[in-house]
Amino acid sequence: MYTCLKKHQYYENLYDKLTIESARRGMTHYDKFYADFENKLPKVEKIDKPGNAFLLNIFYMETVGNELLDRYENRDSKIQEWIRRDQAKDEQISSARLPEEPSCHHCHKQGLRIIDKSLMHRGETYEIDDPEEVLFMLRCPHCDKNSAFWEDGTPWKTKPIVCPNCQSEVTHKTSKTKKAITITYTCTACKHSFNDKMNLTNKDEKSDPEFEKDRHHFCLQDKEFHERLFKMRHDFIEMARLGKQFKEKENNKYLYDAMKEMKKPKIAELTTILAPALEKAGYIDFSLDKPEIGKDVVVGFNCLDGENDRNDRDSEKLLKKTVEIALEDTNWRLMSDGISYRLGYLNGRLRAYEHEEDLKKLVERDIKTGKLKKPDIPKSDSGPRKLKAPDGTDIIL
Ligand SMILES: [Zn+2]
Ligand SMILES: [Zn+2]
Repeated sequence: MYTCLKKHQYYENLYDKLTIESARRGMTHYDKFYADFENKLPKVEKIDKPGNAFLLNIFYMETVGNELLDRYENRDSKIQEWIRRDQAKDEQISSARLPEEPSCHHCHKQGLRIIDKSLMHRGETYEIDDPEEVLFMLRCPHCDKNSAFWEDGTPWKTKPIVCPNCQSEVTHKTSKTKKAITITYTCTACKHSFNDKMNLTNKDEKSDPEFEKDRHHFCLQDKEFHERLFKMRHDFIEMARLGKQFKEKENNKYLYDAMKEMKKPKIAELTTILAPALEKAGYIDFSLDKPEIGKDVVVGFNCLDGENDRNDRDSEKLLKKTVEIALEDTNWRLMSDGISYRLGYLNGRLRAYEHEEDLKKLVERDIKTGKLKKPDIPKSDSGPRKLKAPDGTDIIL
């Protein structure tokens, strides 16, 4: 009797109705754009030429398509949210109790019978943070009049209706038809009569012959259209991603060039690079361990200190520096665990940077430490990519 919760179909219809309304608004913009676009084309050019179709598709997605996809994807969760909201309202209504036995507003007797409970805003003006509260409507068995109370027991106050001409009291008569309730007020003093009409039919529910057809289309029940739209969004996202990537590469060309120029020696070549360099610094018997192949390739190395009067600290330090310099222009780096030294036996680990992001970081680090110089590049506008429509308006990707 007091339920706010409605049948599932109700929420589906409501959601789809909002989708259709939003899509129709979007289509008005799109149709206008299409017409303007067509008018401004050179006479010989056709609107469905690939470049034009591309621009129109972008504009379509911006004005209608993306919204349709969003609404399609959020339909179930929004409907669930509405259902939960109405269930909570029902729960609030059904659990509400009056704190004490109320007395009739009119004859002050007790024993009233609850005839309705509903949720209302108590504030006179509707405010979003004014929570809805349960209002009880009770019928008095003694005088047969109604009294209303808020769930905390406060009587419901109505502003008394007075005659607009002489401010006197009025009497009222109610008449009800299928479509409306009309209350006719008559002034007790000057007999002025006026009425208040409440429409029972929802204005929005006037017939909409296009509804089912539009629902099939805009709510993506049309499988082919549904697939086409998803693909279009996917393609545009992919295109924007590639465009961004392209722009990044263009702006950081010097980084990518340096990455290309960086030497990427194979494991065997490490010996050719390192052994002679270490020998020059007085280290002998250089050899590599078996490589560890994981996300990155790591390979250990070892050698002996050929100079007997060098202490462990100095030996470690010099080896570290020598390795670092020898591998400077390669994608190999000494790992942070450094060099260990025992009785003239030294070992350490090297890591190869192979992934583009890692290589980029290496180059960036070299630029930071001044090993590489960043070239002066003229500033390009780094705003979003723009396309020009035939009418000169910008389409931002
Ligand atoms: Zn009463
Ligand atoms: Zn009057």
